[in-house]
Amino acid sequence: MSIIRQDLSTKDWTIFAVERSKRPKDFKQDSPDKKDTTHLDDCPFCKGNENKTPKELFRISGNGSWLIRVVPNKYPALNPRQELNYSVGRHISGPYLNMEGIGSHEVIIESPRHNDTIRSLDLGHLEKVLFTYKQRYKELSKNENYQLIIIFRNHGARAGTSLEHPHSQLIATPFVTSYIRNKLYEAQRYFDDFGKCVYCEMINYEKRAKKRLVYENDKFISFCPYAAVVPYHIIILPKDHQSCFSEIEDSDIKYFADSLKKIFTKLHKLLGNFDYNYVIDSAPPDKFGEKHYHWHLEILPRLTTRAGFEIGSGVYINTILPEDCAGYLREN
Ligand SMILES: [Zn+2]
Ligand SMILES: [Zn+2]
Repeated sequence: MSIIRQDLSTKDWTIFAVERSKRPKDFKQDSPDKKDTTHLDDCPFCKGNENKTPKELFRISGNGSWLIRVVPNKYPALNPRQELNYSVGRHISGPYLNMEGIGSHEVIIESPRHNDTIRSLDLGHLEKVLFTYKQRYKELSKNENYQLIIIFRNHGARAGTSLEHPHSQLIATPFVTSYIRNKLYEAQRYFDDFGKCVYCEMINYEKRAKKRLVYENDKFISFCPYAAVVPYHIIILPKDHQSCFSEIEDSDIKYFADSLKKIFTKLHKLLGNFDYNYVIDSAPPDKFGEKHYHWHLEILPRLTTRAGFEIGSGVYINTILPEDCAGYLREN
């Protein structure tokens, strides 16, 4: 018998069809490990190839080298404009609406070494990567045209990346998507009904219940969501209520780094070199300090493929319960 669960924060349903309980090895991926080399001559993100990227926007240096660089994406989805005082106009075309493709699309090169991963970066370096996320988020928040700033990481072919050099991306858009608008709306509605942040409520419950808990330190908590949409879906949240990603204190970034590194180490033990996307989901910059939203990072392993039903309905069919995934992860 399958079971259908609702996500408290989105009101979306997930179908759990767990006829045959799956073990971690059933999901293990055999994606080839990265080329075991610190340098590739033809990789645009490797040290020494800095002239192969567009002009740098930000860097952190140390030990006589750069450690992290941020550059515009060479093939951007959206392009910035030089003037600061402009507003992105909407245009009517018959019954349709369009606007200029204004925005920002940046690449965060996380290490000069080609074969680094989230697991292999030392904690101090990973902390600098997350600090860079915050710096760029804050910088782009100043542009009033940018309604949404999404920071994400794609790893592996199934996750949509062909470049194996460790990197994340940031896209700032001049509109809010219906996906985020719905999450904001549902969080606002929960707050209207109960006077509480729905994410803080889930944190308090999962912390006590422990069933779906994956990892916890002084400042961050990670668990597999009750209505997880894919196997090993994990959410990492700050324990203190913060609506916008830029509200994270610099002194707390090391705890965020610690959570990320621990979780990827655990996932790798179970799943090998698996493909995944992660994304930081935050209230838009102009919603800084809101009581009802709570920023978080979601890890979505790409172990299964979305098929017709998922695409047509927006409902996911998951084959493993999040408490089983969390159990395996806690043991490792
Ligand atoms: Zn490289
Ligand atoms: Zn909260």
